[in-house]
Amino acid sequence: MTLSVGEKFEKMKQIRDELLEFHTSPLYGYRIENKYFPVVGEGSHGARIMFVGEAPGENEAKTARPFTGKSGKLLDEMLESIKLNRSDVYITNIVKDRPPASREPSGEEVAAYVPFLDREIQTVEPKVIATLGKSAMNYVFTKMGLTAIITHIRDIHGKEFIGKGDYGAVAVIPLYHPAVGLTDEANKQMLVNDFQVLKKYV
Ligand code: URA
Repeated sequence: MTLSVGEKFEKMKQIRDELLEFHTSPLYGYRIENKYFPVVGEGSHGARIMFVGEAPGENEAKTARPFTGKSGKLLDEMLESIKLNRSDVYITNIVKDRPPASREPSGEEVAAYVPFLDREIQTVEPKVIATLGKSAMNYVFTKMGLTAIITHIRDIHGKEFIGKGDYGAVAVIPLYHPAVGLTDEANKQMLVNDFQVLKKYV
């Protein structure tokens, strides 16, 4: 069911409000100790393309915005390479609070936060979801009925798979996390090449 602009706004506001009060989260104590914020997705609520990363890092937890650190800068560059900017897409994470020292989120943490991601997906109803890194790939592929496809990301990055969302078919494209392109030019070029697959959804 496609929602009106106002209904989408309300749904997203509700997600944000619930996250602020998510006292039972395994990461709530760490958030409060460090004066961090939960990080909800941002961008267009009517986006055709949604990006799903892993979890906020320190910059993100301080600013309450996804992908605002070095990886985010590279993500912006990748978007520019296909003539998009942040306001054309929707960018979010599986886990909405920063895990200590930005370690990979635990299974318990992923389980606690994915209901929020599911609601973001239901609200935006993207045509394509590009996963950034292994955690996002594993969750989104499972959610979209593509569990059998899950393998090492090196074998499927940049390819398109058609999954089943609650609202119809959704293309899912596994991408490496932008962090892999920060120190390695060949990885950066691979990310640029993979991003070109998204052009047809622009
Ligand atoms: N890495 C992520 O996976 N998400 C962010 O928001 C920032 C860095």
